[in-house]
Amino acid sequence: MSAVWPPVLTAPRAEPARSSVPAWLRTPGAVLVIASLWMAAATNPALWRELRTVSILQAPGGLFFAGALGLAVTAILVLLGSLLAWRWTFKPALIALLMVSAIGCHFMWRYGIAIDASMLTNVLQTDPHEAADLASWPLLMTLGGLGVLPAWAVWRWPVQYGRWPRRAGRNLLLALAALAVLGGTLLASYQPLASNWRNHKQLRYLINPLNTVYAAGALAVQPLRRPPGPLQAVALDAHLAPPLARPPLVMLVLGETGRAGNFGLNGYARDTTPALAREDVASFRDAWSCGTSTAASVPCMFSHLGKQGFEARSGEHENLLDVLQRAGLAVLWLDNQSGCKGVCARVPHVETAGLADPLLCKGGQCLDGILLKDLDARIAAMPAERRARGVVLVLHQMGSHGPAYAERSPAASKRFTPECIGNDLQHCAREAIVNAYDNSIAYTDEVLAGAIGWLKTQTAQYDPAMVYVADHGESLGENNLYLHGLPYAMAPDVQKHVPWITWLSPGFQARRGVAMDCLRAQAGAHITHDHLFHSMLGLAGVQTQVYRQDLDAYASCAPT
Ligand SMILES: [Zn+2]
Repeated sequence: MSAVWPPVLTAPRAEPARSSVPAWLRTPGAVLVIASLWMAAATNPALWRELRTVSILQAPGGLFFAGALGLAVTAILVLLGSLLAWRWTFKPALIALLMVSAIGCHFMWRYGIAIDASMLTNVLQTDPHEAADLASWPLLMTLGGLGVLPAWAVWRWPVQYGRWPRRAGRNLLLALAALAVLGGTLLASYQPLASNWRNHKQLRYLINPLNTVYAAGALAVQPLRRPPGPLQAVALDAHLAPPLARPPLVMLVLGETGRAGNFGLNGYARDTTPALAREDVASFRDAWSCGTSTAASVPCMFSHLGKQGFEARSGEHENLLDVLQRAGLAVLWLDNQSGCKGVCARVPHVETAGLADPLLCKGGQCLDGILLKDLDARIAAMPAERRARGVVLVLHQMGSHGPAYAERSPAASKRFTPECIGNDLQHCAREAIVNAYDNSIAYTDEVLAGAIGWLKTQTAQYDPAMVYVADHGESLGENNLYLHGLPYAMAPDVQKHVPWITWLSPGFQARRGVAMDCLRAQAGAHITHDHLFHSMLGLAGVQTQVYRQDLDAYASCAPT
């Protein structure tokens, strides 16, 4: 065992006399330049592909532009590396960067994703099961070839750092040289660089590994820019409308990765929603998400600020659930996903993964049917005085979470075959991917119909209602894009167009004065996640100055 700690950081002792490596190659500068060239050239296939897709590469001067871009990326990497080219930081930092580069390369190339701060937030918030869902042989091979192998070479390389004053001088020279190369490259390619940068904003999210470094930097300074401060209260005046014969029971099913266009109810060529079609439901066909990922959408959906206000917010605010609870309702969040992204922090919540139901759960993940289990007991356990005023249940689905779509539906519910099994989407035929995805929608259809079935058993004590809204959509291989999470401005509609389905019991229709026929006639109304906060307040009968009728999707069908 090495007596030096930490052992990984210990550079293998260089023995100049016996090393066959020439002295100039044993400097941090040389290693840094080679590794940077490697990352710029070898881990950027997604960037080169995009340059071709947008016809930059084929245009006159295209190759020159690509070369200049590669050189600029190399220079920036050398510049960053020169800050860390010290004995104890150089190799760990370079190895980490090589690994990040390889991982980024894999996901950008295979799934067409781009890496920005919100994508990185999703990655950091992911749980081990989600991570395991993404592990695949191609990932391991890319990681091995582009990451582990060069990282191993860096680790073994006999680097000589010299004494620290000399090292500081060399690092400064390295940084100045990188700056000079960067400046020269930018000047020489200023024209095409400026116009392409402006016209093809997606390129900046594809430059590996600088996109990840930049996103990590943006996330790191976020808390500095936005002091969290005390939690800001919302709707302190929230109170309930005068009670009617029965209290409301509103179930909000928070869908996951739902594409509006793949719902039979919305006119999809395949009948993916036969069970809902038998129920008295209304579907808004023109509903749009706040973000393109769970981490971006979910907190925004429950905020009173709306997309614009939410993205420009300062500090943390209370959300819909806080307001419902303050008004006196019993609120419960059931989670069959990787958590509620902070939304349920101050209301009772239950994670279903711990239930280990033998029929519905496997390996720590459960099918969404688990959300409907023991609902009677869960309601009975809520405080009686709150229940008497009304109940709001939020069911956070696993839904159609990819890429292992086939795992989102039980064998008995699979109606479209063959399915793409596993998570390596690019090795599956397009139809097999869509089959697996559509099976997950068909299972969501079963779960939602099951929820309605249970709600119908509650009509003696409550006036029940159900609202199902997905957090974002999904790309299923259109234009070689997969999954979701592209920056909103460049994301295709399929990642943003979400299902929004409503069922109101006859008792609920009477209490709100909302007729299902009227809602169905409103199917084409343009609504967004901005409407969810106000629509839920309206349904739950909560009154406050914060409520906006123009953002209540049900208000136009209700008497004022
Ligand atoms: Zn999601």
